[in-house]
Amino acid sequence: MKLAIYPGSFDPVTNGHIDIIERAAALFDHVIVSVSVNSGKTPLFTLQERVELLTEALKSYRNVSVDSFKGLTVNYAAEKKAQAIIRGLRAISDFENEFQMALTNKKLQPDVETVFMMSQAQWSFLSSSVVKEVASLGGCIRDFVPDIVEKALQERFAELWQDC
Ligand code: ADP
Repeated sequence: MKLAIYPGSFDPVTNGHIDIIERAAALFDHVIVSVSVNSGKTPLFTLQERVELLTEALKSYRNVSVDSFKGLTVNYAAEKKAQAIIRGLRAISDFENEFQMALTNKKLQPDVETVFMMSQAQWSFLSSSVVKEVASLGGCIRDFVPDIVEKALQERFAELWQDC
C-alpha cells in the first residue's frame, strides 16, 4: 500500500491545499493530512479547530484521513510507515525553503521521499495568511476556502464581516 503524509499548519485549510490533497489522493492509496504542532507560529485556529475544519472539508474523500503530530515530520512519516511526504509548491518563493527541507529530511530519513506538486495556476497566489488577512479586513474569501472555513472565519471576524 502506497501511503503519503501531507504535513502543514493548515491555519486554515484553503482551496489550494484541497487541490493538492485531491491530486495526491489520486496517486496514493491513502493520504494522511496531518496538522503540525509548530511552536514557531501563533495560529488563528487551535490545533483541534484546524483538525475539525480539515475533517469536515475532506469528508467526501474516501482515501484521505486527518491527523496531527508533534516533532520531526520524518519521524512521524516513519512511525506511520509512509513512503512519501507531499508538499505543494507555489511560486519560486516556496522553492528555496522546500528544497532545504526536502534535502534535510532525505538525510535524516533516506527511505522517505518528498513529492512536490505544483500548485494549479488558479491557486498559485493563495496562502492561509492571505486568506486570514483578507477576512480580518472584511473582504470576501468565498472563492478561496471550503464553505466550512468561510463560516469559521465569519465567526472570528463577525464585526467586520460583509456578505459577498
Ligand atoms: P507550512 O506551515 O508547513 O508551510 P501550510 O499549511 O502553509 O504549512 O502549507 C502546507 C503545504 O501546502 C506546503 O507544502 C505549502 O507549500 C502548500 N501550499 C499552501 N498553499 C498552497 C497553494 N495555494 N497551492 C499549493 N500548495 C500550497
